[in-house]
Amino acid sequence: MLALCGGARAQAGTAIPVPPPAPPARPAELVTGPPEPGPSLDAPRPPERPPELTTPAVKAPEIKPDDTKPAETKASETKPAETKPAEPTPLPPARPPELSGEAALAVTVAAADDTACRQRLERLGARFEPVPALSDGQCGAARPLKITALAGDLALNPPATLVCGAAEALARWATEAQTLAERDLSQPLKGLSLGTTYLCRGQNHDPDAKLSEHAFANGIDVMGFTFANRAVIAVAPLPEGTPEAAFLAHARAKACGFFRTVLGPGTDAAHANHFHLDERERTAGHRLCQ
Ligand SMILES: [Zn+2]
Repeated sequence: MLALCGGARAQAGTAIPVPPPAPPARPAELVTGPPEPGPSLDAPRPPERPPELTTPAVKAPEIKPDDTKPAETKASETKPAETKPAEPTPLPPARPPELSGEAALAVTVAAADDTACRQRLERLGARFEPVPALSDGQCGAARPLKITALAGDLALNPPATLVCGAAEALARWATEAQTLAERDLSQPLKGLSLGTTYLCRGQNHDPDAKLSEHAFANGIDVMGFTFANRAVIAVAPLPEGTPEAAFLAHARAKACGFFRTVLGPGTDAAHANHFHLDERERTAGHRLCQ
């Protein structure tokens, strides 16, 4: 069996300096190993990984893996049973029938399974319900939620229409805001006054601008904070040194830990009277916290 290995060449007695022998032929089992990656470069690419699949590891220390429970309460919606493909690039979930044509283009990114996110949102104490898919030209959201309250009976006025990832960020940030209210104002926070959540429009109401995250139910405008025993604190440039100014500054700074975009008074004239919070995806995970 050893003689099979390239013996024929050893008899060739030429005078020419012999180049190093060619390596033996690659065994067949190695040649046919990994598939050629070439053709797949032109194949359609899977959708961007949705935020709720990438961020919880850094944002959700209190959620333990052994805490997972079956999704019996939420599994009854239109989706087919959850499948776990073994391939390295998971296929997107089956497309619901209502999302064809133009609408499908608009909501491809948001259409990922958000079951795990909804379970986290429940555990965070949010009160919410799914609402029908939103579709308006390039605007829309495949699985929006209507959120009426957050943990600690924190009311949202009016209720927010958000995709789950943005709702989860809001719920986590609101918990921090409640702590800050107790610390800075000695007052329990009772509610958030909201402006726009879902709205099909360009950034800063400019029809020629890139679509706002509001157009994907992925952004929130917080206009003010309400309390049981004191006046509302409206988001605005407040005189420095007051407890109210400190509370707004602290709450705004905290928001940068939960949202990818945080704008407000001082950013520009369009944001002088509210905090704009959204979960816009940026290259390399960059955030905009101004
Ligand atoms: Zn906004």
